[in-house]
Amino acid sequence: MTYDAIIVGGSYAGLSAGLQLARARRSVLVIDEGLRRNRFAESSHGFLGQDGRAPGAITAEARAQLLVYPSVTWLAPAPPRRARPRMDLPSRPQMKATKRSA
Ligand SMILES: Cc1cc2nc3c(=O)[nH]c(=O)nc-3n(C[C@H](O)[C@H](O)[C@H](O)COP(=O)(O)OP(=O)(O)OC[C@H]3O[C@@H](n4cnc5c(N)ncnc54)[C@H](O)[C@@H]3O)c2cc1C
Repeated sequence: MTYDAIIVGGSYAGLSAGLQLARARRSVLVIDEGLRRNRFAESSHGFLGQDGRAPGAITAEARAQLLVYPSVTWLAPAPPRRARPRMDLPSRPQMKATKRSA
């Protein structure tokens, strides 16, 4: 399968770009692992027409509107696992406090 455009990231910027491309009758693949940077915020402010709304609700609605266009395909790979600290490494030797002699 080939696409006119492939967008990596399906948050506000990717959704905006995808919408313009879809309106221009381009085939678009959006790849998004779903980790918006504002995912920890409860409400959004200063965004015209969306003040006080949950950020996730804004992107969910925008995504639904984008996917109405038949030329748009959405791919949601699983986000990468966070690296876990290795437990098999020896702990760093502790520094002993020593008194300096004058
Ligand atoms: C705590 C917080 C609160 C905020 N509150 C406001 C506010 O009230 N009003 C306001 O206007 N702005 C606010 N912002 C700023 C706003 O969140 C950002 O400007 C906005 O999210 C930027 O959108 P974006 O699409 O560029 O990137 P992001 O929202 O960061 O989205 C990037 C997307 O791309 C995906 N992605 C990245 N790399 C890959 C990859 N290799 N493969 C697949 N997917 C990938 C990510 O998973 C994510 O879904 C806030 C930000 C934070 C952190």
